[in-house]
Amino acid sequence: MSVEHAQVQRTDFDQVMVPNYAPAGFIPVRGAGSRVWDQSGRELVDFAGGIAVNVLGHAHPALVGALTEQANKLWHVSNVFTNEPALRLAKKLVDATFAERAFFCNSGAEANEAAFKLARRVSHDLYGPEKYEIIAAVNSFHGRTLFTVNVGGQSKYSDGFGPKITGITHVAYNDLDALKAAVSDKTCAVVLEPVQGESGVIPADLAYLQGARQLCDEHKALLVFDEVQTGMGRSGQLFAYMHYGVIPDILTSAKSLGGGFPIAAMMTTEALAKHLTVGTHGTTYGGNPLACAVAEAVIDIVNTPQTLAGVVAKRALFQTRLEQIGQKYDLFTQVRGLGLLIGCVLTDAWKGKAKDIFNAAEKEGVMVLQAGPDVVRFAPSLVVTEEDINEGLDRFERAVAKLTQA
Ligand code: PLP
Repeated sequence: MSVEHAQVQRTDFDQVMVPNYAPAGFIPVRGAGSRVWDQSGRELVDFAGGIAVNVLGHAHPALVGALTEQANKLWHVSNVFTNEPALRLAKKLVDATFAERAFFCNSGAEANEAAFKLARRVSHDLYGPEKYEIIAAVNSFHGRTLFTVNVGGQSKYSDGFGPKITGITHVAYNDLDALKAAVSDKTCAVVLEPVQGESGVIPADLAYLQGARQLCDEHKALLVFDEVQTGMGRSGQLFAYMHYGVIPDILTSAKSLGGGFPIAAMMTTEALAKHLTVGTHGTTYGGNPLACAVAEAVIDIVNTPQTLAGVVAKRALFQTRLEQIGQKYDLFTQVRGLGLLIGCVLTDAWKGKAKDIFNAAEKEGVMVLQAGPDVVRFAPSLVVTEEDINEGLDRFERAVAKLTQA
């Protein structure tokens, strides 16, 4: 029996939704691989990937298979019971990383919330109530809950919501001296994105992450890597910490972890995990069988030499063509980032115009992203085909050419 759906349009958004988003003027209705179709049947190449989420594109057969198989078995039991997909996924994550324990939740913000609570709890248990300070980076982004906007280094997201969470300091990213000056014996955690995603796709320097690791060890503080955007193969390694060879104490993953199905994880060592004793933290949906079944299928495909090597090869193709386009139209000063998390920094002539480029690209049939007003971001599927890369970049170039003529 099919369900009758009422006709809805983009204009309905403004009538029925809270106005905290400003979605594009068209409504996507279907996707396959790296192509998306809107209500009118128009086809677009997707280089946005749902903001670095659709790691295997749209409607990947293995993910559809895992989801539908699980949908016919068991949807939800809560954490009063455990379930097979959650245990299988946790085993795979533990086998593949430094971590020995996983906590599942539903979004990047929630994974970070768990990470920050764990860090404070560990310090409280081991060293007493005075060691609670968290040091994070200016312009960092860690999510939208009250704790995570306060740890995030952008006051535009934390102002106006009442008293701030205290004990959080922000220091300039990639500035080891600034970090050194801020860390003390009161520090319980240093929180960093290995590549700052939302604020412009800025990779950390190796020496910075190594220095942060050393400072944490010297001051008995925990190093937390927020890999919500960099994780699950996007860097060309399963996690970006592997690319740098700097091992955190706590790692958070979301976005690509479920390939489009909401799931997140906070991962850590056994010694730290034991501080979250029964009842100290939790969430009803965390480790939901549907989400974990999909994420298991994601890791099975992503964590293979073939997929990871593909990321490096596809990045090379993007890099070459984006640099060519950048030079031809005096558009980009730099094409930076790791793997298939790519940030193109606009030249002075184009500064502040990332949104115009986003709009022009969409009109030509390619979905891209911004990372602030001065950076055009690409976060495509890790299995995007060479044909789709070339077609999407042809459309992108046409959009840029039209903008220059405008
Ligand atoms: N951390 C980082 C590095 C992110 O890029 C994001 C989202 O963009 C988040 C946390 C928040 O994740 P979510 O929107 O799933 O809560």
